[in-house]
Amino acid sequence: MRALVKSRAERGLWLEDVPVPEIGINDVLIRVHRTGICGTDVHIYNWDEWAQQTIPVPMAIGHEFVGEIAAIGSNVNDFKVGDLVSGEGHVVCGRCRNCLAGRRHLCAATLGVGVNRPGAFAEYISLPMTNIWRHNPGMSEEIAAIFDPFGNAVHTALTFPVLGEDVLITGAGPIGLMTIPIVRHAGARHVVVTDLNPFRLELARSMGATLAIDPTKTPVAEAQKQLGMQEGFDVGLEMSGSRAGFVEMIENMCHGGKIAMLGIPAKPMEIDWRKVIFNMITIKGIYGREMYETWYKMSVLVDSGVDISPVITHRYSHKEFEKGFAAMMSGETGKVILDWTD
Ligand code: NAD
Ligand code: ZN
Repeated sequence: MRALVKSRAERGLWLEDVPVPEIGINDVLIRVHRTGICGTDVHIYNWDEWAQQTIPVPMAIGHEFVGEIAAIGSNVNDFKVGDLVSGEGHVVCGRCRNCLAGRRHLCAATLGVGVNRPGAFAEYISLPMTNIWRHNPGMSEEIAAIFDPFGNAVHTALTFPVLGEDVLITGAGPIGLMTIPIVRHAGARHVVVTDLNPFRLELARSMGATLAIDPTKTPVAEAQKQLGMQEGFDVGLEMSGSRAGFVEMIENMCHGGKIAMLGIPAKPMEIDWRKVIFNMITIKGIYGREMYETWYKMSVLVDSGVDISPVITHRYSHKEFEKGFAAMMSGETGKVILDWTD
């Protein structure tokens, strides 16, 4: 089968012929239809310091996908050949205290699909049955392909109640963009989105932001004035991974405000902790998706009419993966999808 492999310890990815993965008795083999390119895949492509320390070479990468079940292990009863499924990208140990307590998203022995074990940028992927999510009838394959990052958005957006609240989203990358229709659906009042990239700010407007601003031109405090807000944002969703974005957020929260933090800073960062303390701000780190409450909510949100489709801006055949990665690196994209059926 064809797979996109990090086969050399240098910049780039290579489309190669590799064996179809074998399945154990508890595994499911999936014929991949479509995949999404994640920022993580770009790090691996670029072979940055994180990738060099993390990725064993050779490794088929990728973790955002949708496909059809092609075969099941002898112990698998809940799934059948032909089911349309996606996979949870974190394979947990199943034996630690958190796993046994049903808090699988808190497993400390998690392995990443396409990071620590073979990934989904391939014609076939094998995963444990406990990592499979079957889609509801009528689900669009493109939306299903990006359930993994959609899950990051849902997990973050629903961490704190937003009904009737004013929400600040820093960073309008694909995940920040997807949080906009979710918090809208969940009843937020003002949804202010910041980014430095005009293409992404325009997408944020089209996906339902009250205001989408470049904070270097319109400070968030100025946006608050425009909207007649008095006391700051109730809920902050940090989606930029930038110190400047986070600092701007802390400055603009109400007393008692709540921040869910998904963006990953490239290095340790300093903030004015006195603001957190005196303003009694809650900050919660968010990683991955809850297994499987977030997945349940994703399916229900899509069925309820939440439309994240504008976030998909580019589509290529897997044979044109170089174009897909170049588009991602340009920053002039939402989500980029690769087709593995041709
Ligand atoms: P992305 O890099 O595409 O988006 C980040 C956006 O932030 C970009 O559009 C960038 O222009 C913008 N930005 C940069 N500086 C800013 C500033 N000062 N103010 C406002 N915006 C600014 O990433 P993504 O794929 O949308 O993911 C969002 C973040 O979440 C990234 O940091 C990513 O590493 C992280 N992430 C975390 C998890 C997790 O489980 N915690 C999972 C996936 C991604
Ligand atoms: Zn565990």
